[in-house]
Amino acid sequence: MIAPTEIALDHAARALTLRWPDGRTQHIGYARLRGDCPCAECRRIRLDGGRVDARPDLTLTGLEAAGYGIRALFGDGHARGIYPWPFLADMADRADRADTTARP
Ligand SMILES: [Zn+2]
Repeated sequence: MIAPTEIALDHAARALTLRWPDGRTQHIGYARLRGDCPCAECRRIRLDGGRVDARPDLTLTGLEAAGYGIRALFGDGHARGIYPWPFLADMADRADRADTTARP
């Protein structure tokens, strides 16, 4: 499994920065990270057609190594989600595409 070579939190931009061994750098906003939280509770909300409450001013207070990925500790107290590396890579790819299609 490919893991990032560097992980940084950019609190000013409210984004997680991931650098991958192939040289790519990806940014994932904290709110987006929270909205796509892979824990059972948040999955359930999305499966039921709802949206995870992810405020734009959400903070990310820390990250914990989880072997195959990272656990995100959000400022709203939610810390159940463990984000596997491939999940994060996919999320960033989707974000890139969403960014390019969302621009007017
Ligand atoms: Zn969750």
